[in-house]
Amino acid sequence: MPDTLCVIALGGNIGDVPAAFRRARESLYGAGFRIRRFSSLYTTEPVDCEPGAGAFVNAAVSGYWNGTPSELLALCRRIEAENGRPNEHPHHVSRTLDLDVILFGHETIALPDLTVPHPEAARRGFVMDPLREIEPELADWLVSRANEPGTAL
Ligand code: ADP
Ligand code: MG
Repeated sequence: MPDTLCVIALGGNIGDVPAAFRRARESLYGAGFRIRRFSSLYTTEPVDCEPGAGAFVNAAVSGYWNGTPSELLALCRRIEAENGRPNEHPHHVSRTLDLDVILFGHETIALPDLTVPHPEAARRGFVMDPLREIEPELADWLVSRANEPGTAL
């Protein structure tokens, strides 16, 4: 596989989230994700979470990956698990670390367990703000793609 410029969104609202992000960054790097840019940290209000959920910390990281999309998802899941996230985890609840594959180059991926671009990214400020900070051209591309008629984003 050739190198692909990918973006991963990070989020969390339990425990020391900046420390979890630092560990995630090390693990991504150690697994061959060649980091290009890492955004600053954003504090955001919980969206669609359980009542009383604490504020989130969000960030985004871009980098080059020479494996498959599924391998990148598997890496993200492994790093989530290593940082205390249970395997069977309901959507939209508090979590120590969430890693979502937002972009895999300009590819469209529709696998049973992987949709890229991430279907909710374009309408989530907590994804778009850090993405725009580090990769403004990819942010523009994602928004224009989401606005195309017939795109299921
Ligand atoms: P959310 O991030 O929306 O709260 P979860 O992280 O709990 O949801 O969802 C995890 C599952 O979502 C993963 O196990 C994965 O199979 C699936 N999934 C589908 N598309 C993606 C993607 N682009 N990035 C990460 N996970 C994805
Ligand atoms: Mg997720």
